[in-house]
Amino acid sequence: MTDRLKGKRALITAAGQGIGRATAEMFIAEGAEVFATDVNADLLTGLDCETHALDVRDDASVAKGIARAQPNVLFNCAGFVHHGTILDTTDADWDFGFDLNVRSMLRTIQAALPIMLEQGGGSIINMSSALGSIIGGPNRFVYGATKAAVIGITKSVAIDYIKQGIRCNAICPGTVESPSWHDRVRALGEQLGSQEEAMKQFVARQPMGRVAKATEIAALATYLASDESAFTTGHPHIIDGGWSGQ
Ligand code: NAD
Repeated sequence: MTDRLKGKRALITAAGQGIGRATAEMFIAEGAEVFATDVNADLLTGLDCETHALDVRDDASVAKGIARAQPNVLFNCAGFVHHGTILDTTDADWDFGFDLNVRSMLRTIQAALPIMLEQGGGSIINMSSALGSIIGGPNRFVYGATKAAVIGITKSVAIDYIKQGIRCNAICPGTVESPSWHDRVRALGEQLGSQEEAMKQFVARQPMGRVAKATEIAALATYLASDESAFTTGHPHIIDGGWSGQ
């Protein structure tokens, strides 16, 4: 590893497992000062950086974490996959999905932007998905709507602050191996009566014949956090193993 993130102070949400944790580890290896956060602080054990409990659904928790970190890089990774069609969706499902996947970013960006502006710049990275406005997927009504909204937030913040050294990009992964993905495979397996068939169906969505490793998404987040990506802002960066590119 090199020092691609030397001088960066990065706050990462949902860094306890999956893509968030892989990114925290890569940011640390690349020389960033990392503030790894998660609603479940126990999951942050073992990370070689400052760690904090932070619930992205709680205004006070977000304000406290951001004030402490004083970040010039913000990786909004927290998100949740709701399973179901529009007719399966309750008001509570919709509200929870939008609060965790979208309103969370309003909270973190509103808290971090003034700090970044004062420092003369910063990079905001928002976790979206290939699934949503890039490509549709079955039983992902709330999820797809929230991840499409993330792209809207990203473009809006990017254009409003482009002259002040702020960049804002979104990451749109295909299917990525993570603890919650394994839960989703297990749930489908129970429905189909075969874990093997469930795994086959998830993998079949990816033309490469495999799902992504969390480190492959972390590598994109590292690029977007670094000055190597200085000329990119306002974009959904698709990293989906060819899923939406066919
Ligand atoms: P994951 O779903 O396995 O882990 C999610 C983490 O979020 C957990 O550590 C959990 O404690 C934390 N979390 C939950 N609620 C929180 C809250 N209120 N505040 C702070 N943290 C909270 O991890 P993953 O699958 O790598 O997903 C990470 C992000 O990537 C999500 O936004 C997800 O939608 C997105 N994504 C995942 C995939 C995939 O296939 N895994 C694909 C595209 C996008």
